[in-house]
Amino acid sequence: MKPVQGLHHITAVASNPQTNLDFYHHILGQRLVKKTVNFDDPGTYHLYYGDEVGTPGTIMTYFPWPHMRRGRKGNGETAAMAYTIRPEAMGFWQNWLKKNGISTGEIQTRFGADVLPFTDPDGLTLELVTSDDPATLQHWTGGPIGAKDALQGFHGVTLWLDEVEPTANLLIEQMGYHFTGQEGSRYRYQAGGEDVGLYVDILHRPGQSAAQFGAGSIHHIAFRTVDDSEQLEYFNKLRQAHFHVTPVQDRQYFRSIYFRSPGGVLFEIATDAPGFLYDEPVAELGTHLKLPPWLEKNRPAIKERLPQIELKPVVPAAL
Ligand code: ZN
Repeated sequence: MKPVQGLHHITAVASNPQTNLDFYHHILGQRLVKKTVNFDDPGTYHLYYGDEVGTPGTIMTYFPWPHMRRGRKGNGETAAMAYTIRPEAMGFWQNWLKKNGISTGEIQTRFGADVLPFTDPDGLTLELVTSDDPATLQHWTGGPIGAKDALQGFHGVTLWLDEVEPTANLLIEQMGYHFTGQEGSRYRYQAGGEDVGLYVDILHRPGQSAAQFGAGSIHHIAFRTVDDSEQLEYFNKLRQAHFHVTPVQDRQYFRSIYFRSPGGVLFEIATDAPGFLYDEPVAELGTHLKLPPWLEKNRPAIKERLPQIELKPVVPAAL
């Protein structure tokens, strides 16, 4: 069986959809590549942000629930997600975030790279991690950030867990990750791919309080698989290892299986195919409300329930 190639997408919870859209689209320079609804709760948007074409490993997705209380960080969740930047872009990001009223933490050094932490409008911890050799992605040419400073897709995620070993075993035995090092209570695991979203860090926090889910929490993290047949191999292997894996769910832009990891974090394995160009051409990505065929008949009612959001014109970043 092939090892997992890395992260596919990360799904989190926001409160206000317009605030979320403005932050990711206009400040982080992540293109809205799909505007659809939560298929299990069609009165709620599902907003997808990524590079120009929605490459797996760049896709941050949100369910904005306007009345959701803010979550509280703790064990059993993905407590932070990180984007890669080029080392030369660090100064830009410090200034740009400050100019937009976003306070950043001190730059930290982690496994030899610089890390700049800050939070999104709902309190989700984001980090920018420097890399000399970022993945080759399709820069969003219509976005506010120039190619050299732009985010270069996911670096990875940090899980906060009571115990390291059970989740480490899952990553290594069932998913083909390998252990690459420890710094203090942080353990790093690397996927088999060479591209984007390669790292899962476990922060060992024995006896610390459990997370409380809410706005600003990451709901699940999804790992990449090429196609249905490879996904079936993971499905069988995980079932053999006694994980309760769901049947395949059609997510329109990918097909997914889900299971709970030993520390409580919800994992998904999603296919790269068919991708975000399945129902919109590149030039029009994110500009229409897209619904899956089984919800299309309810379009008028769905549109009426959804809050209005507006895709404002992009202004190039100027410092
Ligand atoms: Zn997902």
